[in-house]
Amino acid sequence: MTDKRTYVVLLGAPGAGKGTQAKLLEQATGLPQVSTGDIFRYNLKNETELGKLAKSYMDKGALVPDDVTIRMVEDRLAQPDAARGAIMDGFPRTLAQADAFDRLVAPFGGVAVAPVIVIDDEETVYRITGRRSCRACGSVYHIILNPPKVEGRCDKDNGELYQRDDDQEATVRNRLLVYYKQTAPLIGYYYAKGLLREVNGGETIELVQAALRSLIKLK
Ligand code: ADP
Ligand code: AMP
Repeated sequence: MTDKRTYVVLLGAPGAGKGTQAKLLEQATGLPQVSTGDIFRYNLKNETELGKLAKSYMDKGALVPDDVTIRMVEDRLAQPDAARGAIMDGFPRTLAQADAFDRLVAPFGGVAVAPVIVIDDEETVYRITGRRSCRACGSVYHIILNPPKVEGRCDKDNGELYQRDDDQEATVRNRLLVYYKQTAPLIGYYYAKGLLREVNGGETIELVQAALRSLIKLK
């Protein structure tokens, strides 16, 4: 019997809601959220060699090189909590990463589904510049659209909310450009494999979550 696992690839522009939805899907499915952005930020905070390398790219809104990123994901997916699969948030982000990921998960039945969360480009900028993240647990808020109960504090652990360095408007516009040049081709890639599903990201967080859950069948 093959070891079947469920790998969900969340696609969408920066600010589409991938992280917000991945955290809720993690609770609903028991599959861990694997956010390459979060792993890079963790390394940055702890001043590891990987963190130092990633910083120069992240500050500009550019992508960290594929070889480094792919190796990091291989290590992460070998952890015991990912033994049934994972919710991929922000990876793959290039065609080379998508090919490498396909090879990595082929022994476990391949990618199960690739939902793309679609929002307007101007909404992207509005959402990202208003985003605030918890320093302790990484929970994500928006100052207007999804505010915490107490300003500046996380609802879950009272951690300090901060604005990511790369969430300033100038960097956001570059991230959007990088998205269209390097990541948007993945929409065609997964469409051709019959795995793409479109979800309207302009709906409420709850409605987007319901749409995503209906697409995920645990193996
Ligand atoms: P991504 O991981 O795709 O970059 P996030 O999940 O961090 O996106 O969401 C970006 C911002 O938009 C956050 O401030 C978040 O609170 C807010 N947000 C996410 N989903 C929605 C939604 N459906 N409606 C309104 N705001 C949302
Ligand atoms: P995110 O948290 O997904 O918004 O990612 C923040 C930043 O981390 C990106 O702008 C990139 O610099 C880097 N990053 C995250 N995921 C990847 C990836 N799969 N490939 C390359 N760089 C990445």
